[in-house]
Amino acid sequence: MKKIAKFFEVLGLENIRGKYILEKLKKEVQNKLQEKERLLEELKKECLNCKKCELHKTRNNVVFGEGDINTPLMFVGEAPGEQEDLEGRPFVGRAGKLLTTILNQFGIDRNKIYIANVLKCRPPNNRDPKPEEIKACFPYLKKQIEIIKPKVILCLGAFAARTILNLPEKTPISKIRGKEFFSEEFKAYVIPTYHPAFLLRQKRGQEAFREDLKKALKLAGMI
Ligand code: SF4
Repeated sequence: MKKIAKFFEVLGLENIRGKYILEKLKKEVQNKLQEKERLLEELKKECLNCKKCELHKTRNNVVFGEGDINTPLMFVGEAPGEQEDLEGRPFVGRAGKLLTTILNQFGIDRNKIYIANVLKCRPPNNRDPKPEEIKACFPYLKKQIEIIKPKVILCLGAFAARTILNLPEKTPISKIRGKEFFSEEFKAYVIPTYHPAFLLRQKRGQEAFREDLKKALKLAGMI
């Protein structure tokens, strides 16, 4: 919007017609944002009551996702952990804190990104998601991405990358990390990287993670 305003200024169109067009564009942007909010709220309500897989029996909270719904960059993780399940928010445990710290090192506030998981409910004892749980839950994530329309999706860990890129079940993260994909389905760049929980155990993975994050931020036009 600032660029458009500058454009009119350069053309000397700070007159009535210029202002009218600018107001119209502003209104259109606002309407689109409100529509996104409405659609996501509707989806969230549905998700909070979901019982499509066994995980609803052991969850404390559904972790729908949070962040800037107008962002060009979305993070997709695997599933809520213990702390996330207790708070109903994604990436708030130790791994989440590391993610926030690394983001801040690039001068980016976490609330400028939208963060969601493949599974919205915690698997007991943080076990791996089962294929039938991913199948049941993926439609929520798919709709979130379709509503938010990010330019770039950073996949945190193998489960997220396989799900978003529709890759075979056993594809290891080491085989796809460091590569850049384009998803025709979501019309977005997809960057697979390590899950922050892995980075807590393997510090040497942090350098590669930073590279991937930098690439994602650049593609999204955020740095
Ligand atoms: S994990 Fe997904 S599909 Fe399963 S109960 Fe939770 S919201 Fe529903």
